[in-house]
Amino acid sequence: MNITLLHRKKISVIGAARSGVAVAQLLRSQGANVFVSDSSSAEKLQSSISNLQSEKIEFEVGKHSDHVYNCELMVISPGVPSNALVVLEAQKRSIKVVSELEVSSWFCRSPIVAITGSNGKTTTATLIGRILDHAKKKHVVAGNIGTAFSSIVLELDETDVAVLEVSSFQLDHIGVFRPKISILLNITPDHMDRYDHSMEKYAASKARIFKNQRSDDVLIYNADDEWTNRVVSQAQSRKVAFSIQQKLNEGAFVENEKLVTSLGGVKTEIIDINQIFIKGIHNLYNSMAAALAGQLLGVEADSLQSTLKTFEGVEHRLEFVRELNSVRYYNDSKATNVDSVWYALQAFKEPIVLLLGGRDKGNDYSRLAKLVKKQVKAIVAIGESADKVEQAFRGTSAITKAASMDEAVSTARSLAQSGDVVLLSPACASFDWFKNYEHRGQVFKELVKNL
Ligand code: ADP
Repeated sequence: MNITLLHRKKISVIGAARSGVAVAQLLRSQGANVFVSDSSSAEKLQSSISNLQSEKIEFEVGKHSDHVYNCELMVISPGVPSNALVVLEAQKRSIKVVSELEVSSWFCRSPIVAITGSNGKTTTATLIGRILDHAKKKHVVAGNIGTAFSSIVLELDETDVAVLEVSSFQLDHIGVFRPKISILLNITPDHMDRYDHSMEKYAASKARIFKNQRSDDVLIYNADDEWTNRVVSQAQSRKVAFSIQQKLNEGAFVENEKLVTSLGGVKTEIIDINQIFIKGIHNLYNSMAAALAGQLLGVEADSLQSTLKTFEGVEHRLEFVRELNSVRYYNDSKATNVDSVWYALQAFKEPIVLLLGGRDKGNDYSRLAKLVKKQVKAIVAIGESADKVEQAFRGTSAITKAASMDEAVSTARSLAQSGDVVLLSPACASFDWFKNYEHRGQVFKELVKNL
């Protein structure tokens, strides 16, 4: 993209949350004629509105009027799905539609490490950030995490690394976006409603992360994941895999309980897997992906080892809260689907008292039955779906219903004995009792700390 062409160009930005406002400011700083549109109410967008007003950027809220189509380019914020009406209408009118990720990449002078997958993006992106911190390499972590890419991209130069968490919606609308290193963690059913319930379409969207990569770029991918394996055959990139099930000539794997990498024929022992702080097979995968990225960016094995030993993970993802009377309490409020609870349960050897339930998303709990029978001594059923949870696990584990998080935590405390784990891993959305999953996790942690 020749960015000088943006001068005086009419551009509509869809979405006025943090990333939408940031990309509008970026485009405006390049002399573009920007119009921002968001269908949410003015009440919800107060801080964005004052930012747009102070920058004198034209905008509308509460609707997408016909004015949004009066443009040569439409830029969509990360949360806008590809099948949103405004996107479909723009495409019908032959307006070019690109994502905030694509636009930001036009201005990016530093190499990009881009991470995608159905689960594990935030954990892996944060861990790579921590690895680069420890090795004193200049970098930023952005994308779906906290900072919008467009808000910091102009500050980066060739000596930085941009570590980006990217969603499939953003990948749907890239043009020339080309990461130096792309990471594909896994592809399991998610957002199916937005991809016509087609795994092929969803997987194709994830595969766009490497679409512009060339042979001197690297694709790090999960060799144990079925859909990931299917799509990587199309990549032009240098392929570096990670696997728990097999040893690899090029990639990361487990040998004698050690995380080992083999890159360009050089084998390196990184860490004893039992010393990795974050627990569970899923986090071993995330650690392997991050270690490979670190090594490819020049981080030494010693430094990788130190970080993997101490990185405590991200808040609300199997987060250790406290130990009381030899019972360990964990907050996994971000586990909003059945798959993430499956991974949480297999992360423990101890008997578990599990807080499960919330706003059900059509969950099929049968995948958990075997693990629950083996490891979960008691379930405390919470939220709107408490009855469904009770039905699903009757005869599999002891079940008690709780009418509030407060009651759930005290029930769990009375059920747990020395050596047990109390785990909030709800498999459901939080909007029945809470504002969001962060709020649910905060309330749980407060109650546990006050026990
Ligand atoms: P994302 O950013 O992709 O949503 P997170 O790192 O926030 O991923 O983790 C979301 C949930 O998925 C958490 O409950 C976490 O424990 C679980 N999880 C993390 N990594 C993986 C993985 N590699 N495979 C499966 N589940 C994972």
